[in-house]
Amino acid sequence: MKPAPFEYHRPDSVEEALALLAEHGYDAKLLAGGQSLVPAMNFRMATPAVLIDLNRIPGLDDIARADDGLRIGAMARQRAAERSDLVAAHAPLLAETLPYVAHAQIRNRGTIGGSIAHADPAAEMPAVMLALDARFHLRGPGGTRVVAAGDFFTGLFGTALDAEEMLVEVEIPSAAPRTGWAFDEVSRRHGDYALAGLAAVVQVDEAGRCTAARISLLSVGDGPVLAAQAAAALVGQAPTEDAIRAAAEAAAQRDVDPPGDIHATPAYRRQLVEVLVRRVLPRAFARAVAAA
Ligand code: FAD
Repeated sequence: MKPAPFEYHRPDSVEEALALLAEHGYDAKLLAGGQSLVPAMNFRMATPAVLIDLNRIPGLDDIARADDGLRIGAMARQRAAERSDLVAAHAPLLAETLPYVAHAQIRNRGTIGGSIAHADPAAEMPAVMLALDARFHLRGPGGTRVVAAGDFFTGLFGTALDAEEMLVEVEIPSAAPRTGWAFDEVSRRHGDYALAGLAAVVQVDEAGRCTAARISLLSVGDGPVLAAQAAAALVGQAPTEDAIRAAAEAAAQRDVDPPGDIHATPAYRRQLVEVLVRRVLPRAFARAVAAA
């Protein structure tokens, strides 16, 4: 299939892109890496009348250290972030997760911001950003507003972005001392969308007891799911096998209500959530203890 006809614009600045968005509203679509949008256009699942190509705007792909953490420009390619020393040093969970996103050829084009804005419930970036408690900088006609990942994802492919806004930057806060992290997923083949996945960030005190946990799941709901019951089962506990088993049960039975599809039944996805908690959490806690 070929896409429906569209008008093409290639702005040189964020201001120019925003002016085009304001002019065309819901008739327009921003083009980032095109790895989700272009296939959707080719299948005519998306038929934007106007395409606003962000690829030539300078500076939108910067990855930089900030006082309070790491800043990643929306147009940073997934592959560039995967290979970035700054990401490895200051957002190691993101570095660990990126190789699970599709294939290298797709990550060469696909962007961090495009994946977040697309908000596919089976995508890794939204779940990782939720686990990291990232904040998204959204630019619109009225200026910039900052939205926490927890408030950004609003349902199936839904986000807090208004029609006249674009995501310009992702802010990942610095990790507190004694923080550990880990990611894993289950998919049929490496590079496929996951049947279920889990990103975890945990903190421990001097005695090794869990003081905080952000456990985020993908492919088991309308969007990324923060497993609050699992976290509550861990906080205040030493991360023993029993405590992690209790958290796994809480996640699978109380935190998620997974959908069924041709790839997996809801019961199978619950089982995967339980397995993933038991697989990922010991690794995250070991890193937290090692970071002490
Ligand atoms: P685009 O496709 O250009 O845009 C996606 C959407 O986001 C569009 O609606 C666009 O208007 C909007 N958008 C883009 N940038 C902005 C912005 N700055 N502000 C506001 N809105 C914006 N992804 C995974 O997570 N896991 C996988 O396993 C996976 N497997 C894949 C396998 C294949 C074969 C393919 C083709 C893709 C796969 N993807 C997977 C998707 C890939 O990661 C995409 O790169 C990503 O979803 C979208 O990023 P993009 O930069 O290509 O965005």
